Amino acid sequence: MTKILIIEDETSIAELQRDYLEINGFEAEIQSSGEEGLHQALRGDYNLIILDIMLPHINGFEICRQIRAEKNIPILLVSAKKEEIDKIRGLGLGADDYITKPFSPSELVARVKAHLARYERLAGSRSAEKEKIIYVHGISIDLSARRVHIHEQEVPFTTKEFDLLTCFVKHPNQVLSKEQLFENIWGFDSAGDVSTVTVHVRKLREKIERDPASPQYLETVWGAGYRFNI
Ligand code: CA
Repeated sequence: MTKILIIEDETSIAELQRDYLEINGFEAEIQSSGEEGLHQALRGDYNLIILDIMLPHINGFEICRQIRAEKNIPILLVSAKKEEIDKIRGLGLGADDYITKPFSPSELVARVKAHLARYERLAGSRSAEKEKIIYVHGISIDLSARRVHIHEQEVPFTTKEFDLLTCFVKHPNQVLSKEQLFENIWGFDSAGDVSTVTVHVRKLREKIERDPASPQYLETVWGAGYRFNI
């Protein structure tokens, strides 16, 4: 059974998270103290950690850093402040995802599932049949059927949008230049130019980003190209 540890000092939030995870077939434990939560995370055999940032005595950043130093499991950081997300992203703590309070429990569950699936895939334990599906950031990409689901809802993608998305997720955390993307997806001989890439990146962001104006997943690297963050 998949075991999840929730480190959260607000009882009502922790219980809501636990209840939804349990409804979805996960085993979930709550730890309201940061210190205890850290020890439990390091000692126990959890598959995923949901970690609040604002905890008394020790903050979530430090807990995240210490868990990551020892464990290769998904860590989802929960923050009450949106601005904090940018800060924590820059810290390179090794968290896999960030959720801002208030969040919908179904969004939490979708992300938990996506991260577990991704780790499972990285560990090479997925069945051959499932390997055609890539999960990332709540997005599921079926490579053979060429269908995309975002938070479990199917979203239509054009051929080129699909190719572009696939290209990004297959090269995570790498900067891809507009020229590389154009060459890869449209080919040298095709009509159009690299500005096509810009247009398609914008369309992609409108579909996959919560706020396309300040993208979290598909970032612009000024003067270099784009990077898909995992
Ligand atoms: Ca808190």
